Amino acid sequence: MLELIPAKPKSLDRYIESVGEEPIETIRSLAAKLDDARILHVNATSFGGGVAELLATAVPLMRGLGLDCDWQVMFGSDDFFNVTKTMHNALQGMEVAWTPQMEKTYLDKVIDNVARLDTDYDFVVIHDPQPAAMLHILEYETQQLPRGKWIWRCHIDTSDPFLQVADFLFPMIEPYDAAVFTMSDFVPSGYGLPPVTLIPPCIDPIALKNVRLNPATVRAIWESYDVDYDRPTLCQISRFDPWKDPLGVIDAYRIAKEEVPDLQLVLAGSMATDDPEGMHYLHRTEQHAAGDPDVYIFTNAHGVGSIEVNAFQTGADVVIQKSIREGFGLTVSEALWKRTPVVAGNVGGIRMQIEDGEGGFLVDSIEQCGEACIALLKDPTQRMARGNHAHEFVRTRYVTTVLLEKWLNLFVELSTPD
Ligand code: UDP
Repeated sequence: MLELIPAKPKSLDRYIESVGEEPIETIRSLAAKLDDARILHVNATSFGGGVAELLATAVPLMRGLGLDCDWQVMFGSDDFFNVTKTMHNALQGMEVAWTPQMEKTYLDKVIDNVARLDTDYDFVVIHDPQPAAMLHILEYETQQLPRGKWIWRCHIDTSDPFLQVADFLFPMIEPYDAAVFTMSDFVPSGYGLPPVTLIPPCIDPIALKNVRLNPATVRAIWESYDVDYDRPTLCQISRFDPWKDPLGVIDAYRIAKEEVPDLQLVLAGSMATDDPEGMHYLHRTEQHAAGDPDVYIFTNAHGVGSIEVNAFQTGADVVIQKSIREGFGLTVSEALWKRTPVVAGNVGGIRMQIEDGEGGFLVDSIEQCGEACIALLKDPTQRMARGNHAHEFVRTRYVTTVLLEKWLNLFVELSTPD
């Protein structure tokens, strides 16, 4: 078996207060149709990044619905994760040096993992490129497909991939029963992909990261990090990664600081175990901040966990998510849920979350980012009004119950004979 991530069953009752009774009833009746189905999710890390975040909520809830749902994490190695990070970058459009040796490193590790994989499930959901070749390898080795329905869930923006890597990966997706993408723009053309379902990710409204914190708690957390709660503050919560553009965030902060001299910036990012670039990019970010005492850079090594992320998103005047490419960007909905306006890159899944000018602003450059921050910092009344609208927008589209309903619908569809 791969690494099994423990998950206690969790009841949906606790969501009634946030979303009402109706969605909960719909989800329960869908789960009843699945009749004790065995479900397996496989991904590459149990910590750091949006996928781990989603599974940490979805798996306990599926268990709470009576479904036999497991989450297993594949085994990797430094070489493997370097290759899969390159693959990830290439699928998001970066031109990379891609070699036969990299393909071998990738396939060899997936083969090792497949040898340990228990395939006795009704539904197997494979997340992202790292374990994507598993089904292809199983079919190749045994000349037959396993008994359950297999679904590939792609969390990244593959709308314009670097072709050499896309041509390697996407043919291996063909044997899947279904593919799930965040939005239709991300579905690459020219490959014989299985039927596609669109399911955006979601935030968990009752998780420690998203529950309402009282102002005294928020203040106490800021003060424990020596950040002045009474000064205007911008914040970006993201892995240290070129696609998240932390250097651009610092430049935008510098533009805004010319108009708002008191301004502070908090950059917080956990280091995911499957992201070898993280440490290098953290150092580049620290260098770019050049010792500015109003720029705070934190990682999980400083104890930044869910409640701290919550406190920074809640207390910031503006949350930034200045991504250059973005599958979804859970941090955007997390901030909007807390009624904090967001200034974010006009890319990928972020576009689904911000109605430009409502929850915040979509920006295409560092200058626009700086200007949008200035506009929001100078107009607190409008900020509040937008916040309520944004909270409602997220509640009806991007919370856990919406996601569960979509997944269970897909399982029911796949188990219904044609
Ligand atoms: N996150 C966190 N601590 C950090 C940085 C990020 O808990 O220091 C969380 C963040 O709140 C969000 C997730 O990690 O829930 C990042 O998901 P997103 O979709 O924004 O980006 P990804 O890392 O998946 O590209």
